[in-house]
Amino acid sequence: MPELPEVESLARFLEKRCVAHAVARAELVAFPCLKTAGVPLAALGGLVVETVRRRGKFLCLGLGGCWLVTHLAHAGWLVWRDEMPAQPARPSRNPLAFRLVLDDGSGFDLTEAGTRKSLAIYLVGDPLDVPNLATLGPEPLDAAFTPAQLDAILDRAGGAHLKGVLRDQRIIAGVGNAYSDEILWAARLSPYAACGRLDASHRAVLYDAIQTVLTAAIDDLAGLDARDLKPHKKAGFRVHARTGEPCPACGTTIAEVSFAESSLQYCPTCQTGGKTLADRRLSRLLK
Ligand SMILES: [Zn+2]
Repeated sequence: MPELPEVESLARFLEKRCVAHAVARAELVAFPCLKTAGVPLAALGGLVVETVRRRGKFLCLGLGGCWLVTHLAHAGWLVWRDEMPAQPARPSRNPLAFRLVLDDGSGFDLTEAGTRKSLAIYLVGDPLDVPNLATLGPEPLDAAFTPAQLDAILDRAGGAHLKGVLRDQRIIAGVGNAYSDEILWAARLSPYAACGRLDASHRAVLYDAIQTVLTAAIDDLAGLDARDLKPHKKAGFRVHARTGEPCPACGTTIAEVSFAESSLQYCPTCQTGGKTLADRRLSRLLK
Protein backbone atom coordinates (compact mmCIF):
# COMPACT_ATOMS: atom_id res chain seq x y z
CA MET A 1 0.00 0.00 0.00
CA PRO A 2 1.36 3.45 -0.84
CA GLU A 3 2.00 5.38 2.37
CA LEU A 4 2.92 8.99 3.13
CA PRO A 5 6.25 9.08 1.21
CA GLU A 6 4.85 7.45 -1.94
CA VAL A 7 1.66 9.52 -1.98
CA GLU A 8 3.72 12.68 -1.33
CA SER A 9 5.94 11.76 -4.29
CA LEU A 10 2.91 11.09 -6.48
CA ALA A 11 1.45 14.47 -5.49
CA ARG A 12 4.69 16.26 -6.38
CA PHE A 13 4.93 14.32 -9.64
CA LEU A 14 1.35 15.20 -10.61
CA GLU A 15 1.71 18.81 -9.54
CA LYS A 16 4.45 19.33 -12.13
CA ARG A 17 2.43 17.71 -14.89
CA CYS A 18 -1.21 18.57 -14.23
CA VAL A 19 -1.39 22.06 -12.76
CA ALA A 20 -2.74 24.64 -15.25
CA HIS A 21 -4.02 21.90 -17.54
CA ALA A 22 -7.74 21.44 -18.18
CA VAL A 23 -9.47 18.08 -17.96
CA ALA A 24 -10.37 16.75 -21.41
CA ARG A 25 -11.99 13.49 -20.23
CA ALA A 26 -12.65 11.75 -16.94
CA GLU A 27 -13.59 8.09 -17.36
CA LEU A 28 -14.83 5.87 -14.59
CA VAL A 29 -14.19 2.27 -15.61
CA ALA A 30 -14.70 0.38 -12.34
CA PHE A 31 -17.94 1.94 -11.08
CA PRO A 32 -17.74 0.72 -7.45
CA CYS A 33 -14.57 2.82 -6.96
CA LEU A 34 -16.57 6.04 -6.95
CA LYS A 35 -17.64 6.41 -3.33
CA THR A 36 -19.02 9.93 -3.29
CA ALA A 37 -20.06 12.06 -6.20
CA GLY A 38 -21.21 15.29 -4.59
CA VAL A 39 -19.85 16.67 -7.85
CA PRO A 40 -20.98 14.79 -11.00
CA LEU A 41 -18.19 13.09 -12.95
CA ALA A 42 -19.23 14.92 -16.12
CA ALA A 43 -18.63 18.26 -14.38
CA LEU A 44 -14.85 17.63 -14.36
CA GLY A 45 -14.61 18.20 -18.13
CA GLY A 46 -13.07 21.59 -18.86
CA LEU A 47 -12.04 22.27 -15.27
CA VAL A 48 -8.43 23.34 -14.76
CA VAL A 49 -6.23 21.52 -12.23
CA GLU A 50 -5.18 24.22 -9.76
CA THR A 51 -3.35 22.22 -7.13
CA VAL A 52 -2.29 18.70 -6.16
CA ARG A 53 -1.95 17.90 -2.48
CA ARG A 54 -1.53 14.97 -0.14
CA ARG A 55 -3.32 14.46 3.16
CA GLY A 56 -2.42 11.23 4.96
CA LYS A 57 -2.51 8.58 2.25
CA PHE A 58 -5.07 10.54 0.20
CA LEU A 59 -4.16 12.24 -3.06
CA CYS A 60 -6.23 15.39 -3.69
CA LEU A 61 -6.50 17.26 -7.00
CA GLY A 62 -8.13 20.67 -6.71
CA LEU A 63 -10.03 21.71 -9.83
CA GLY A 64 -11.81 25.06 -9.73
CA GLY A 65 -14.01 24.63 -6.70
CA CYS A 66 -14.16 20.83 -6.65
CA TRP A 67 -11.80 18.06 -5.61
CA LEU A 68 -10.92 14.70 -7.03
CA VAL A 69 -9.71 12.73 -4.02
CA THR A 70 -8.36 9.20 -4.22
CA HIS A 71 -7.10 6.56 -1.80
CA LEU A 72 -5.08 3.87 -3.53
CA ALA A 73 -5.72 1.31 -0.77
CA HIS A 74 -3.90 -2.04 -0.82
CA ALA A 75 -3.16 -2.71 -4.45
CA GLY A 76 -4.05 0.53 -6.20
CA TRP A 77 -1.56 2.58 -8.17
CA LEU A 78 -1.27 5.59 -10.44
CA VAL A 79 0.13 5.20 -13.94
CA TRP A 80 1.10 8.34 -15.82
CA ARG A 81 0.99 8.44 -19.62
CA ASP A 82 2.35 11.25 -21.78
CA GLU A 83 -0.05 10.18 -24.50
CA MET A 84 -3.40 8.69 -23.59
CA PRO A 85 -5.28 6.55 -26.11
CA ALA A 86 -7.89 8.55 -28.04
CA GLN A 87 -10.47 5.79 -27.60
CA PRO A 88 -12.55 5.79 -24.42
CA ALA A 89 -11.50 3.16 -21.88
CA ARG A 90 -13.84 0.19 -21.62
CA PRO A 91 -14.66 -1.92 -18.58
CA SER A 92 -12.71 -5.16 -18.84
CA ARG A 93 -10.72 -7.54 -16.73
CA ASN A 94 -7.70 -5.28 -16.73
CA PRO A 95 -7.06 -3.41 -13.52
CA LEU A 96 -7.94 0.04 -14.91
CA ALA A 97 -10.37 1.77 -12.54
CA PHE A 98 -10.32 5.43 -13.58
CA ARG A 99 -8.71 7.56 -16.27
CA LEU A 100 -8.14 11.29 -16.35
CA VAL A 101 -7.06 12.81 -19.67
CA LEU A 102 -5.76 16.38 -19.85
CA ASP A 103 -6.01 18.95 -22.63
CA ASP A 104 -2.54 18.08 -24.00
CA GLY A 105 -3.39 14.38 -24.33
CA SER A 106 -1.42 13.30 -21.26
CA GLY A 107 -3.03 11.97 -18.12
CA PHE A 108 -3.14 9.21 -15.57
CA ASP A 109 -4.82 5.91 -14.91
CA LEU A 110 -5.75 4.68 -11.46
CA THR A 111 -5.31 0.93 -11.48
CA GLU A 112 -5.99 -1.77 -8.94
CA ALA A 113 -4.53 -5.24 -9.08
CA GLY A 114 -5.96 -8.29 -7.33
CA THR A 115 -9.46 -9.28 -6.37
CA ARG A 116 -9.78 -7.28 -3.19
CA LYS A 117 -11.08 -4.02 -4.65
CA SER A 118 -10.75 -1.14 -2.26
CA LEU A 119 -9.40 1.74 -4.33
CA ALA A 120 -11.62 4.72 -3.58
CA ILE A 121 -12.41 7.86 -5.58
CA TYR A 122 -14.39 10.82 -4.25
CA LEU A 123 -15.68 13.85 -6.16
CA VAL A 124 -16.39 16.47 -3.55
CA GLY A 125 -16.65 20.20 -3.00
CA ASP A 126 -14.20 20.00 -0.09
CA PRO A 127 -11.68 17.25 0.80
CA LEU A 128 -13.16 17.26 4.31
CA ASP A 129 -16.35 15.84 2.78
CA VAL A 130 -14.41 12.55 2.48
CA PRO A 131 -15.26 10.69 5.71
CA ASN A 132 -11.90 9.03 6.44
CA LEU A 133 -10.00 12.16 5.46
CA ALA A 134 -11.95 14.36 7.85
CA THR A 135 -10.98 12.16 10.80
CA LEU A 136 -7.22 11.98 10.03
CA GLY A 137 -4.74 12.71 12.79
CA PRO A 138 -1.92 15.25 12.44
CA GLU A 139 0.61 15.17 9.61
CA PRO A 140 3.86 13.89 11.17
CA LEU A 141 6.07 16.09 8.97
CA ASP A 142 4.14 19.32 9.62
CA ALA A 143 5.91 21.95 11.69
CA ALA A 144 2.98 21.72 14.10
CA PHE A 145 3.85 18.08 14.87
CA THR A 146 6.23 18.72 17.76
CA PRO A 147 7.77 16.35 20.34
CA ALA A 148 5.15 17.70 22.76
CA GLN A 149 2.37 16.64 20.40
CA LEU A 150 3.85 13.14 20.13
CA ASP A 151 4.09 13.07 23.94
CA ALA A 152 0.39 13.85 24.23
CA ILE A 153 -0.43 11.14 21.66
CA LEU A 154 1.60 8.54 23.58
CA ASP A 155 0.05 9.48 26.91
CA ARG A 156 -3.45 9.31 25.46
CA ALA A 157 -2.69 5.90 23.91
CA GLY A 158 -1.69 4.56 27.35
CA GLY A 159 -1.21 0.80 27.25
CA ALA A 160 -1.81 0.49 23.48
CA HIS A 161 1.08 -0.94 21.43
CA LEU A 162 3.33 1.41 19.47
CA LYS A 163 2.83 -0.49 16.22
CA GLY A 164 -0.96 -0.11 16.28
CA VAL A 165 -0.84 3.53 17.32
CA LEU A 166 1.70 4.50 14.63
CA ARG A 167 -0.44 3.04 11.87
CA ASP A 168 -3.78 4.31 13.15
CA GLN A 169 -4.70 7.05 10.64
CA ARG A 170 -6.88 8.84 13.19
CA ILE A 171 -3.88 9.25 15.50
CA ILE A 172 -1.06 10.02 13.02
CA ALA A 173 -1.79 10.44 9.31
CA GLY A 174 0.04 8.65 6.53
CA VAL A 175 2.08 5.96 8.32
CA GLY A 176 1.04 2.40 7.51
CA ASN A 177 2.35 -1.09 8.04
CA ALA A 178 5.58 -0.62 6.12
CA TYR A 179 6.84 2.67 7.52
CA SER A 180 5.76 1.83 11.07
CA ASP A 181 8.09 -1.22 10.85
CA GLU A 182 10.86 1.04 9.54
CA ILE A 183 10.31 3.72 12.19
CA LEU A 184 10.29 1.21 15.05
CA TRP A 185 13.45 -0.45 13.75
CA ALA A 186 15.19 2.93 13.41
CA ALA A 187 14.12 3.80 16.97
CA ARG A 188 15.18 0.37 18.29
CA LEU A 189 11.76 -0.04 19.88
CA SER A 190 9.54 -3.10 20.17
CA PRO A 191 6.34 -3.01 18.11
CA TYR A 192 4.56 -4.14 21.28
CA ALA A 193 5.99 -1.49 23.62
CA ALA A 194 3.21 0.25 25.54
CA CYS A 195 3.02 3.88 24.36
CA GLY A 196 2.33 5.48 27.71
CA ARG A 197 5.23 3.71 29.43
CA LEU A 198 7.97 5.00 27.11
CA ASP A 199 10.48 7.16 28.99
CA ALA A 200 11.61 10.58 27.80
CA SER A 201 14.71 9.33 25.98
CA HIS A 202 12.74 6.67 24.05
CA ARG A 203 10.13 9.29 23.14
CA ALA A 204 12.83 11.58 21.77
CA VAL A 205 14.31 8.72 19.74
CA LEU A 206 10.86 7.79 18.41
CA TYR A 207 10.15 11.38 17.38
CA ASP A 208 13.46 11.56 15.52
CA ALA A 209 12.84 8.20 13.84
CA ILE A 210 9.43 9.33 12.56
CA GLN A 211 10.99 12.47 11.08
CA THR A 212 14.11 10.89 9.60
CA VAL A 213 12.51 7.72 8.18
CA LEU A 214 9.69 9.59 6.42
CA THR A 215 11.90 12.46 5.23
CA ALA A 216 14.58 10.09 3.95
CA ALA A 217 11.97 8.05 2.09
CA ILE A 218 10.54 11.17 0.41
CA ASP A 219 14.05 12.34 -0.52
CA ASP A 220 14.85 8.89 -1.85
CA LEU A 221 11.78 8.92 -4.10
CA ALA A 222 12.28 12.53 -5.26
CA GLY A 223 12.18 13.07 -8.98
CA LEU A 224 11.21 9.49 -9.80
CA ASP A 225 8.62 8.76 -12.43
CA ALA A 226 5.35 7.47 -10.95
CA ARG A 227 6.02 4.03 -12.41
CA ASP A 228 9.36 3.75 -10.58
CA LEU A 229 8.05 4.62 -7.13
CA LYS A 230 6.80 1.18 -6.16
CA PRO A 231 9.94 -0.88 -6.90
CA HIS A 232 12.10 1.89 -5.42
CA LYS A 233 10.05 1.96 -2.23
CA LYS A 234 10.62 -1.75 -1.62
CA ALA A 235 14.35 -1.43 -2.22
CA GLY A 236 14.59 1.19 0.52
CA PHE A 237 13.19 -0.94 3.35
CA ARG A 238 15.57 -2.11 6.06
CA VAL A 239 13.30 -4.59 7.89
CA HIS A 240 9.82 -4.36 6.40
CA ALA A 241 9.09 -7.33 4.11
CA ARG A 242 12.59 -8.66 4.83
CA THR A 243 11.79 -11.67 7.02
CA GLY A 244 14.73 -14.08 7.07
CA GLU A 245 17.27 -11.53 5.84
CA PRO A 246 20.04 -10.18 8.09
CA CYS A 247 19.37 -6.97 10.04
CA PRO A 248 21.41 -4.20 8.34
CA ALA A 249 22.54 -2.98 11.77
CA CYS A 250 23.49 -6.18 13.64
CA GLY A 251 23.13 -9.13 11.27
CA THR A 252 20.47 -10.94 13.32
CA THR A 253 17.83 -12.66 11.19
CA ILE A 254 14.80 -10.41 10.80
CA ALA A 255 11.71 -11.98 12.34
CA GLU A 256 8.01 -11.48 11.72
CA VAL A 257 4.63 -11.68 13.39
CA SER A 258 1.80 -12.68 11.06
CA PHE A 259 -1.78 -11.54 11.24
CA ALA A 260 -4.76 -12.45 9.09
CA GLU A 261 -4.13 -9.77 6.50
CA SER A 262 -0.66 -8.45 7.20
CA SER A 263 2.58 -9.12 9.01
CA LEU A 264 5.11 -7.02 10.85
CA GLN A 265 8.88 -7.41 10.72
CA TYR A 266 11.43 -6.56 13.40
CA CYS A 267 14.96 -7.32 14.55
CA PRO A 268 14.93 -9.35 17.81
CA THR A 269 18.38 -8.06 18.80
CA CYS A 270 17.87 -4.36 18.00
CA GLN A 271 14.26 -4.07 19.10
CA THR A 272 13.10 -6.67 21.60
CA GLY A 273 16.15 -7.44 23.72
CA GLY A 274 16.71 -10.77 21.97
CA LYS A 275 13.14 -11.92 22.58
CA THR A 276 11.17 -13.46 19.73
CA LEU A 277 7.61 -12.14 19.66
CA ALA A 278 4.86 -14.74 19.67
CA ASP A 279 3.54 -15.37 16.20
CA ARG A 280 -0.03 -16.43 16.79
CA ARG A 281 -0.53 -17.85 13.33
CA LEU A 282 2.60 -19.94 13.61
CA SER A 283 1.82 -21.16 17.13
CA ARG A 284 -1.70 -22.12 16.03
CA LEU A 285 -0.20 -24.25 13.28
CA LEU A 286 2.12 -25.93 15.76
CA LYS A 287 -0.60 -26.88 18.24
ZN1 LIG B 1 19.40 -5.74 14.43
